[in-house]
Amino acid sequence: MLLEVRDLYVEFRTREGIAHAVNGVSYAVDAGETLAVLGESGSGKSVTAQAVMGILDMPPGRITGGEILFQGRDLLTLKEDERRKVRGARMAMIFQDALSALNPVLSVGDQLGEMFVVHRGMSKKDARAKAIELMDRVRIPAARERVGQYPHQFSGGMRQRIMIAMAMALEPALIIADEPTTALDVTVQAQVMELLAELQRELDMGLILITHDLGVVADVADRIAVMYAGRIIETAPVHDIYKAAAHPYTQGLLDSIPRLHHKGRELYAIKGLPPSLLDIPPGCAFHPRCPRARDVCRTDVPPLHPVAPDRRSACHFWKETLDASHS
Ligand code: SF4
Ligand code: MG
Repeated sequence: MLLEVRDLYVEFRTREGIAHAVNGVSYAVDAGETLAVLGESGSGKSVTAQAVMGILDMPPGRITGGEILFQGRDLLTLKEDERRKVRGARMAMIFQDALSALNPVLSVGDQLGEMFVVHRGMSKKDARAKAIELMDRVRIPAARERVGQYPHQFSGGMRQRIMIAMAMALEPALIIADEPTTALDVTVQAQVMELLAELQRELDMGLILITHDLGVVADVADRIAVMYAGRIIETAPVHDIYKAAAHPYTQGLLDSIPRLHHKGRELYAIKGLPPSLLDIPPGCAFHPRCPRARDVCRTDVPPLHPVAPDRRSACHFWKETLDASHS
């Protein structure tokens, strides 16, 4: 297995108390595989990724339990210099906002080239050639002419392609993309997502795709893990999820996608707001918003029940949910 997160806990100390951002998350992604991690903001999807990348510092977050195995070695117990080596060369991250992730005063060619100068000891001239090659590879037109331009001179979609080029420059084994297309308009979203999926296949990388939008992952993900209040509440192969949900929260997400909208079913928005991580409801954290909630839901935390060999749901009533979702 390329990456295996096991029973991870992360908390943040805030002035109001301890925010329980990640509460026992386990997931895995293999080479050549795409895992979509889905959830609203505050579900812990980004924080889990930041823990994997080692960038949990805004505001100060603390890993209080679990393991992060990368190619079989636990990053959390590795010596600092080794850990940095692994994260620097074998993993990369793509962020939502390319404009603030890129350096505004360095040309795109210099930023891409710098990776090869620093990590591969290349000359500036060779690094420049590599930068042009990468820009071609992410299909930026006229790469040779544009290599000297600055980030603000590119469109949002082109900037996101530059981010992708930066991330794959050193051919990492794992890429984590956090809402990589959220800031783009719909057609550009599809193109960028397609590019990412294509490069992932070519390079046989593991890809973790973090998103709040179930609609964008259907064509690219192999598996989905749905998060709520710092836990995974359902995980399954992507096609199984689209066929039927085994958790009422997932059902709500499915019903709110216009393009999957089934005839005769109202387009739906899940009522209420996600809980505060300072004060997660007891029992099932989703119970205040759940149309199926019963007494047991207010007291007993649902474990991740096996629904099928490759599928789990943290709902006491996963079976009736699944049956209703099929109908
Ligand atoms: Fe709803 Fe209960 Fe299932 Fe939670 S455990 S999702 S509250 S039915
Ligand atoms: Mg986020």
